[in-house]
Amino acid sequence: MEQIPRFLSWRNMLVLSLAVNFSLILKILKGEKERGDSWDRTVYSSIWPVVSTTALGSSSLLSSASCNYSKIEEDDDRIINLKLGDPTVYERYWQEMGDVTTMVIPGWQSLSYFSDNNNLCWFLEPELGKEIVRVHKIVGNAVTQDRFIVVGTGSTQLYQAALYALSPHDDSGPINVVSAAPYYSSYPLITDCLKSGLYRWGGDAMTYKEEGPYIELVTSPNNPDGFLREPVVNSSKGILIHDLAYYWPQYTPITSAADHDVMLFTASKSTGHAGMRIGWALVKDRETARKMTEYIELNTIGVSKDSQLRVAKVLKAVSDSCGNETAKSFFEHSYDAMYERWKLLKQAAKDTKRFTVPDFVSQRCNFFGKVFELQPAFAWFKCEEGIVDCEKFLREEKKILTKSGKHFGDDQSYVRISMLDRDTNFNIFLHRVSVSSNSTL
Ligand code: PMP
Repeated sequence: MEQIPRFLSWRNMLVLSLAVNFSLILKILKGEKERGDSWDRTVYSSIWPVVSTTALGSSSLLSSASCNYSKIEEDDDRIINLKLGDPTVYERYWQEMGDVTTMVIPGWQSLSYFSDNNNLCWFLEPELGKEIVRVHKIVGNAVTQDRFIVVGTGSTQLYQAALYALSPHDDSGPINVVSAAPYYSSYPLITDCLKSGLYRWGGDAMTYKEEGPYIELVTSPNNPDGFLREPVVNSSKGILIHDLAYYWPQYTPITSAADHDVMLFTASKSTGHAGMRIGWALVKDRETARKMTEYIELNTIGVSKDSQLRVAKVLKAVSDSCGNETAKSFFEHSYDAMYERWKLLKQAAKDTKRFTVPDFVSQRCNFFGKVFELQPAFAWFKCEEGIVDCEKFLREEKKILTKSGKHFGDDQSYVRISMLDRDTNFNIFLHRVSVSSNSTL
């Protein structure tokens, strides 16, 4: 009985309350530090506002003020890396979606290598297969009926699987693989990295004249220049691979359901989940699909089940959002983001005349039911005013890292610039290319 009042003496109470308050202060300070990055981002958004009124209404992803980039001063001169197409522009949408795509995978799951023994592609998770078909049907960008789906660790693996499947396995020697310049810079590197006896990089399809079979890669919309493409080699001996990574309505009007022999898609550029490393191929011919599956079996014994399930969940959220009458869909959000960025970039090109970007024609999009111009994931940016090496100029004068046109089989006066980075980086990039070189970065 005596101990209780001693424990609750005013001195003890004072010490206890000081301790509680101190830990509370520490917690608040720690929280501020952890949130620092996103708070910085908010600060940046208000310093670098982006216009947000579009045909589809204002986007909650962007702030609503208008902006004159030449009048805004940056608060640092950090290096802005727009070399890769890292799709972080989509981060904000998925953050706003909260727990819709959150998954808990218990430890007892994903033990088996196998996903579906009845499927030709035995490592394809049925749920992913279902959501792939559903999203293509909703968007109307590809035929899925009577097609085999092969899942890959990104479409990078599927590209290699397609080369393996489509190359002759006889003694005829490596088949040439070509694509019209400017082509995706990874194609030659991936094709030749193992010096395969089955296939080899054959260069620019525009100038390809050799007799005999060849594989032509058709990337539409194209990386790096964004144009829609058709095969260009004038021969009946071509085997085609269609890389449709960017055939989604945030980048291009969907004019018809693509219906080619081998079509490659990826989560990286459709929903922005590049880190999940999931791509899929829609394949007409059973034997081609079987050989692609065989390649992936030899290469990685299948594809991560966890990643497949996560992409299935993401695709489901995308498809569900398209049926929601009250809120903007994933594609409306991302269309708006691309629309605003392209509008600002084209305006800056017009105002400054220091650089150019391609002009695109308008077409009617069956998905959105309206006419618009392509708004690609990359800007094929040409330095004017006699600048020969655009990559060097932007790196040295503007502290912007880009990929030189030479990597895409083109001229050094061009660079490829990612349009998929976070708002902050895109806005700083836009500001820097809008002000003259001798002004402070
Ligand atoms: N094809 C094209 C045209 C691409 O631009 C990319 C990504 N830059 C890929 C394929 C590779 O995509 P993934 O991340 O799925 O390997």
